[in-house]
Amino acid sequence: MIVVIGSINMDLVLRVPRMPLPGETLTGGAFRTIPGGKGANQAVACARLSGKVAGAQQVAMVACVGDDAFGATLRAALVGDGIIDSHITILPGVASGIASILVDDNGQNSIVIAGGANDLLSPAHIDAAQGLIEQADIVVLQLETPMATVVHAIKLARSLGKTVVLNPAPAASLPEGVLELVDYLIPNEIEAAMLAGVSPEGADVKALAAALQKLGSDNVIITLGSKGVHAALYGGDYTFPAEAVKAVDTTAAGDTFIGGFVAGLASGMDEAEAIQQGQRAAAWSVTKPGAQTSIPHLHELF
Ligand code: ADP
Repeated sequence: MIVVIGSINMDLVLRVPRMPLPGETLTGGAFRTIPGGKGANQAVACARLSGKVAGAQQVAMVACVGDDAFGATLRAALVGDGIIDSHITILPGVASGIASILVDDNGQNSIVIAGGANDLLSPAHIDAAQGLIEQADIVVLQLETPMATVVHAIKLARSLGKTVVLNPAPAASLPEGVLELVDYLIPNEIEAAMLAGVSPEGADVKALAAALQKLGSDNVIITLGSKGVHAALYGGDYTFPAEAVKAVDTTAAGDTFIGGFVAGLASGMDEAEAIQQGQRAAAWSVTKPGAQTSIPHLHELF
Protein backbone atom coordinates (compact mmCIF):
# COMPACT_ATOMS: atom_id res chain seq x y z
CA MET A 1 0.00 0.00 0.00
CA ILE A 2 1.04 3.60 -0.67
CA VAL A 3 0.00 6.14 1.99
CA VAL A 4 0.07 9.81 0.99
CA ILE A 5 0.00 12.32 3.84
CA GLY A 6 -0.74 15.88 2.77
CA SER A 7 -2.96 18.59 1.39
CA ILE A 8 -6.27 18.58 -0.46
CA ASN A 9 -7.33 21.81 -2.21
CA MET A 10 -10.02 22.95 -4.57
CA ASP A 11 -8.31 24.89 -7.37
CA LEU A 12 -10.42 27.89 -8.39
CA VAL A 13 -9.04 28.52 -11.85
CA LEU A 14 -9.85 31.76 -13.63
CA ARG A 15 -8.56 32.29 -17.17
CA VAL A 16 -7.96 35.97 -17.87
CA PRO A 17 -6.71 37.79 -20.96
CA ARG A 18 -3.97 39.37 -18.81
CA MET A 19 -3.15 39.78 -15.11
CA PRO A 20 -5.21 42.57 -13.46
CA LEU A 21 -3.43 45.58 -11.97
CA PRO A 22 -4.04 46.42 -8.28
CA GLY A 23 -7.55 47.94 -7.96
CA GLU A 24 -8.51 46.96 -11.52
CA THR A 25 -11.62 44.92 -12.49
CA LEU A 26 -11.26 42.71 -15.56
CA THR A 27 -14.16 41.05 -17.37
CA GLY A 28 -14.21 38.23 -19.88
CA GLY A 29 -12.72 35.51 -17.68
CA ALA A 30 -13.70 31.82 -17.72
CA PHE A 31 -13.97 29.95 -14.41
CA ARG A 32 -13.51 26.26 -13.44
CA THR A 33 -13.13 24.39 -10.18
CA ILE A 34 -10.59 21.56 -10.44
CA PRO A 35 -9.55 19.23 -7.58
CA GLY A 36 -5.93 19.86 -6.59
CA GLY A 37 -3.54 20.18 -3.66
CA LYS A 38 -0.12 18.55 -3.83
CA GLY A 39 -1.06 15.68 -1.51
CA ALA A 40 -4.27 14.84 -3.33
CA ASN A 41 -2.62 15.20 -6.76
CA GLN A 42 0.14 12.80 -5.74
CA ALA A 43 -2.37 10.30 -4.30
CA VAL A 44 -4.40 10.44 -7.53
CA ALA A 45 -1.24 10.03 -9.61
CA CYS A 46 -0.17 7.01 -7.51
CA ALA A 47 -3.63 5.44 -7.92
CA ARG A 48 -4.02 6.10 -11.68
CA LEU A 49 -0.46 5.02 -12.44
CA SER A 50 -0.65 1.82 -10.39
CA GLY A 51 -3.13 0.53 -12.95
CA LYS A 52 -5.98 -1.84 -12.29
CA VAL A 53 -4.04 -5.07 -12.70
CA ALA A 54 -4.22 -7.89 -10.16
CA GLY A 55 -2.07 -7.06 -7.16
CA ALA A 56 -2.11 -3.33 -7.98
CA GLN A 57 -1.15 -1.10 -5.09
CA GLN A 58 -3.84 0.35 -2.89
CA VAL A 59 -3.48 4.04 -2.16
CA ALA A 60 -4.73 5.77 1.00
CA MET A 61 -4.64 9.42 2.07
CA VAL A 62 -4.21 11.00 5.49
CA ALA A 63 -5.55 14.55 5.29
CA CYS A 64 -8.16 17.06 6.47
CA VAL A 65 -10.98 18.81 4.62
CA GLY A 66 -13.63 21.21 5.89
CA ASP A 67 -17.34 20.46 6.28
CA ASP A 68 -18.17 22.62 3.25
CA ALA A 69 -19.26 21.73 -0.28
CA PHE A 70 -15.67 21.73 -1.57
CA GLY A 71 -14.67 19.19 1.10
CA ALA A 72 -17.42 16.78 0.08
CA THR A 73 -16.60 17.14 -3.63
CA LEU A 74 -12.87 16.72 -3.07
CA ARG A 75 -13.30 13.60 -0.95
CA ALA A 76 -15.71 12.10 -3.48
CA ALA A 77 -13.21 12.76 -6.28
CA LEU A 78 -10.50 10.85 -4.40
CA VAL A 79 -12.85 7.94 -3.67
CA GLY A 80 -13.75 7.97 -7.38
CA ASP A 81 -10.07 7.32 -8.09
CA GLY A 82 -10.15 4.33 -5.72
CA ILE A 83 -8.30 6.08 -2.89
CA ILE A 84 -9.01 4.88 0.66
CA ASP A 85 -10.51 7.83 2.57
CA SER A 86 -10.80 6.31 6.07
CA HIS A 87 -8.28 8.87 7.41
CA ILE A 88 -9.47 11.94 5.55
CA THR A 89 -10.90 13.84 8.51
CA ILE A 90 -13.79 16.28 8.03
CA LEU A 91 -13.31 19.24 10.37
CA PRO A 92 -16.55 20.95 11.46
CA GLY A 93 -16.75 24.71 11.01
CA VAL A 94 -13.54 24.85 8.95
CA ALA A 95 -13.10 25.82 5.29
CA SER A 96 -11.48 23.31 2.92
CA GLY A 97 -8.17 24.34 1.40
CA ILE A 98 -8.37 26.35 -1.80
CA ALA A 99 -5.97 27.70 -4.39
CA SER A 100 -7.09 30.78 -6.28
CA ILE A 101 -5.33 30.59 -9.65
CA LEU A 102 -5.25 33.19 -12.40
CA VAL A 103 -3.93 31.99 -15.77
CA ASP A 104 -3.40 34.55 -18.51
CA ASP A 105 -3.26 34.14 -22.29
CA ASN A 106 0.51 33.68 -22.14
CA GLY A 107 0.06 30.73 -19.77
CA GLN A 108 1.50 32.73 -16.85
CA ASN A 109 0.12 31.73 -13.43
CA SER A 110 -0.56 33.77 -10.34
CA ILE A 111 -1.63 31.69 -7.32
CA VAL A 112 -2.85 32.39 -3.77
CA ILE A 113 -3.44 29.43 -1.43
CA ALA A 114 -5.65 29.46 1.67
CA GLY A 115 -4.68 26.29 3.52
CA GLY A 116 -7.89 26.04 5.59
CA ALA A 117 -8.33 22.48 6.89
CA ASN A 118 -4.85 21.51 5.62
CA ASP A 119 -3.33 23.84 8.22
CA LEU A 120 -5.06 21.82 10.95
CA LEU A 121 -3.65 18.39 10.04
CA SER A 122 -1.98 17.58 13.35
CA PRO A 123 0.38 14.97 14.85
CA ALA A 124 -2.73 13.52 16.56
CA HIS A 125 -4.27 12.81 13.12
CA ILE A 126 -1.05 11.01 12.16
CA ASP A 127 -1.09 8.94 15.36
CA ALA A 128 -4.74 8.06 14.69
CA ALA A 129 -3.65 6.76 11.27
CA GLN A 130 -0.84 4.57 12.64
CA GLY A 131 -2.72 1.36 11.82
CA LEU A 132 -3.00 2.51 8.19
CA ILE A 133 0.64 3.62 8.01
CA GLU A 134 1.67 0.20 9.37
CA GLN A 135 0.15 -1.36 6.22
CA ALA A 136 2.11 0.94 3.89
CA ASP A 137 5.19 0.02 1.87
CA ILE A 138 5.85 3.62 0.89
CA VAL A 139 4.79 6.84 2.66
CA VAL A 140 4.72 10.04 0.59
CA LEU A 141 4.75 13.58 2.03
CA GLN A 142 4.96 17.22 0.90
CA LEU A 143 5.07 20.57 2.75
CA GLU A 144 1.52 21.97 2.28
CA THR A 145 0.58 20.85 5.82
CA PRO A 146 2.19 22.04 9.10
CA MET A 147 5.92 21.30 9.35
CA ALA A 148 5.53 19.80 12.86
CA THR A 149 3.02 17.28 11.45
CA VAL A 150 5.24 16.41 8.48
CA VAL A 151 8.22 15.82 10.76
CA HIS A 152 6.11 13.75 13.17
CA ALA A 153 4.80 11.63 10.29
CA ILE A 154 8.27 11.10 8.82
CA LYS A 155 9.59 9.95 12.20
CA LEU A 156 6.65 7.56 12.69
CA ALA A 157 6.90 6.12 9.17
CA ARG A 158 10.63 5.63 9.55
CA SER A 159 10.27 3.99 12.99
CA LEU A 160 7.84 1.54 11.37
CA GLY A 161 10.45 0.70 8.71
CA LYS A 162 8.61 2.34 5.81
CA THR A 163 10.19 3.84 2.69
CA VAL A 164 9.79 7.62 3.02
CA VAL A 165 9.41 9.86 -0.06
CA LEU A 166 9.47 13.62 0.57
CA ASN A 167 8.58 16.25 -2.01
CA PRO A 168 9.79 19.41 -0.20
CA ALA A 169 7.23 21.70 -1.86
CA PRO A 170 6.44 24.53 -1.56
CA ALA A 171 10.08 25.46 -0.92
CA ALA A 172 10.93 25.69 2.78
CA SER A 173 13.87 24.85 4.99
CA LEU A 174 13.59 21.68 7.08
CA PRO A 175 14.47 21.16 10.74
CA GLU A 176 17.90 19.61 11.25
CA GLY A 177 18.10 15.84 10.99
CA VAL A 178 14.91 15.35 8.96
CA LEU A 179 16.68 14.58 5.67
CA GLU A 180 18.45 11.67 7.35
CA LEU A 181 15.03 10.02 7.67
CA VAL A 182 14.13 10.46 3.99
CA ASP A 183 14.80 7.65 1.50
CA TYR A 184 13.87 9.59 -1.66
CA LEU A 185 13.96 13.39 -1.68
CA ILE A 186 12.26 14.79 -4.81
CA PRO A 187 12.59 18.61 -5.10
CA ASN A 188 12.52 20.82 -8.16
CA GLU A 189 15.57 23.06 -8.72
CA ILE A 190 14.26 25.94 -6.60
CA GLU A 191 13.34 23.69 -3.68
CA ALA A 192 16.69 21.90 -3.92
CA ALA A 193 18.59 25.20 -3.78
CA MET A 194 16.50 26.33 -0.78
CA LEU A 195 17.29 23.12 1.15
CA ALA A 196 20.96 23.30 0.25
CA GLY A 197 21.05 26.94 1.37
CA VAL A 198 22.31 28.34 -1.96
CA SER A 199 20.87 30.69 -4.59
CA PRO A 200 18.98 28.88 -7.39
CA GLU A 201 20.60 31.20 -9.95
CA GLY A 202 23.20 29.23 -11.84
CA ALA A 203 23.37 26.46 -9.21
CA ASP A 204 24.90 23.25 -10.53
CA VAL A 205 22.37 20.40 -10.12
CA LYS A 206 24.99 17.75 -9.55
CA ALA A 207 26.50 19.82 -6.72
CA LEU A 208 23.00 20.49 -5.33
CA ALA A 209 22.15 16.79 -5.27
CA ALA A 210 25.49 16.00 -3.62
CA ALA A 211 24.87 18.67 -0.97
CA LEU A 212 21.42 17.22 -0.19
CA GLN A 213 22.82 13.70 0.03
CA LYS A 214 25.41 15.03 2.46
CA LEU A 215 22.57 16.42 4.59
CA GLY A 216 21.30 12.87 4.90
CA SER A 217 18.87 11.83 2.16
CA ASP A 218 20.01 8.54 0.56
CA ASN A 219 18.58 9.34 -2.87
CA VAL A 220 17.98 12.78 -4.34
CA ILE A 221 15.96 13.20 -7.52
CA ILE A 222 15.84 16.81 -8.77
CA THR A 223 13.18 17.56 -11.38
CA LEU A 224 14.25 20.07 -14.03
CA GLY A 225 11.04 20.84 -15.93
CA SER A 226 11.48 20.34 -19.69
CA LYS A 227 15.13 19.37 -19.04
CA GLY A 228 14.06 16.16 -17.23
CA VAL A 229 15.52 14.78 -14.03
CA HIS A 230 18.90 14.60 -12.29
CA ALA A 231 19.13 11.64 -9.92
CA ALA A 232 21.81 10.94 -7.34
CA LEU A 233 21.14 7.35 -6.27
CA TYR A 234 23.32 5.52 -3.74
CA GLY A 235 26.44 7.32 -5.00
CA GLY A 236 25.74 7.14 -8.76
CA ASP A 237 24.63 10.22 -10.70
CA TYR A 238 22.30 9.94 -13.68
CA THR A 239 20.53 12.37 -15.99
CA PHE A 240 17.24 11.40 -17.60
CA PRO A 241 16.03 13.72 -20.39
CA ALA A 242 12.32 14.64 -20.45
CA GLU A 243 10.09 13.42 -23.25
CA ALA A 244 9.65 16.03 -25.99
CA VAL A 245 6.05 17.31 -25.93
CA LYS A 246 4.27 20.60 -26.56
CA ALA A 247 3.47 21.89 -23.06
CA VAL A 248 0.17 23.74 -22.57
CA ASP A 249 -0.08 23.72 -18.73
CA THR A 250 2.59 22.42 -16.36
CA THR A 251 0.31 22.43 -13.28
CA ALA A 252 0.85 19.20 -11.32
CA ALA A 253 3.78 18.05 -13.52
CA GLY A 254 5.88 17.47 -10.41
CA ASP A 255 3.00 15.72 -8.62
CA THR A 256 2.42 13.45 -11.62
CA PHE A 257 6.13 12.61 -11.80
CA ILE A 258 6.12 11.65 -8.12
CA GLY A 259 2.99 9.49 -8.51
CA GLY A 260 4.47 7.67 -11.49
CA PHE A 261 7.79 7.17 -9.73
CA VAL A 262 6.25 5.93 -6.47
CA ALA A 263 3.73 3.65 -8.24
CA GLY A 264 6.65 2.23 -10.21
CA LEU A 265 8.76 1.57 -7.13
CA ALA A 266 5.78 0.00 -5.34
CA SER A 267 5.22 -2.35 -8.28
CA GLY A 268 8.82 -3.57 -8.10
CA MET A 269 10.57 -1.38 -10.69
CA ASP A 270 14.13 -0.22 -10.02
CA GLU A 271 14.73 3.52 -9.65
CA ALA A 272 15.68 4.11 -13.29
CA GLU A 273 12.52 2.40 -14.56
CA ALA A 274 10.36 4.22 -12.02
CA ILE A 275 11.90 7.59 -13.01
CA GLN A 276 11.14 6.84 -16.66
CA GLN A 277 7.53 5.96 -15.81
CA GLY A 278 7.24 9.19 -13.78
CA GLN A 279 8.62 11.28 -16.64
CA ARG A 280 6.39 9.67 -19.23
CA ALA A 281 3.35 10.41 -17.06
CA ALA A 282 4.51 13.98 -16.31
CA ALA A 283 5.12 14.71 -20.00
CA TRP A 284 1.56 13.55 -20.74
CA SER A 285 0.22 15.79 -17.97
CA VAL A 286 1.80 18.98 -19.33
CA THR A 287 -0.16 18.55 -22.57
CA LYS A 288 -3.47 18.86 -20.64
CA PRO A 289 -4.86 21.73 -18.52
CA GLY A 290 -5.50 21.58 -14.77
CA ALA A 291 -4.25 19.54 -11.83
CA GLN A 292 -6.11 16.25 -11.32
CA THR A 293 -7.70 16.63 -14.78
CA SER A 294 -4.22 16.26 -16.33
CA ILE A 295 -3.00 13.11 -14.56
CA PRO A 296 -2.98 10.05 -16.85
CA HIS A 297 -4.04 6.47 -16.13
CA LEU A 298 -1.36 3.86 -16.77
CA HIS A 299 -3.13 2.49 -19.87
CA GLU A 300 -3.12 5.96 -21.48
CA LEU A 301 0.68 6.01 -21.56
CA PHE A 302 1.18 3.02 -23.84
P1 ADP B 1 7.35 21.15 -10.57
O1 ADP B 1 6.04 21.14 -11.29
O2 ADP B 1 7.28 20.49 -9.22
O3 ADP B 1 8.08 22.45 -10.56
P2 ADP B 1 9.04 20.32 -12.81
O4 ADP B 1 8.63 21.56 -13.53
O5 ADP B 1 10.49 20.10 -12.58
O6 ADP B 1 8.28 20.14 -11.41
O7 ADP B 1 8.44 19.09 -13.64
C1 ADP B 1 8.43 17.77 -13.15
C2 ADP B 1 8.67 16.80 -14.27
O8 ADP B 1 7.63 16.95 -15.25
C3 ADP B 1 9.98 17.01 -15.03
O9 ADP B 1 11.06 16.35 -14.40
C4 ADP B 1 9.63 16.40 -16.40
O10 ADP B 1 9.73 15.00 -16.35
C5 ADP B 1 8.16 16.77 -16.55
N1 ADP B 1 7.99 18.01 -17.32
C6 ADP B 1 7.79 19.27 -16.84
N2 ADP B 1 7.70 20.19 -17.84
C7 ADP B 1 7.87 19.48 -18.99
C8 ADP B 1 7.87 19.82 -20.38
N3 ADP B 1 7.70 21.10 -20.78
N4 ADP B 1 8.04 18.82 -21.28
C9 ADP B 1 8.20 17.53 -20.89
N5 ADP B 1 8.20 17.14 -19.60
C10 ADP B 1 8.03 18.10 -18.66
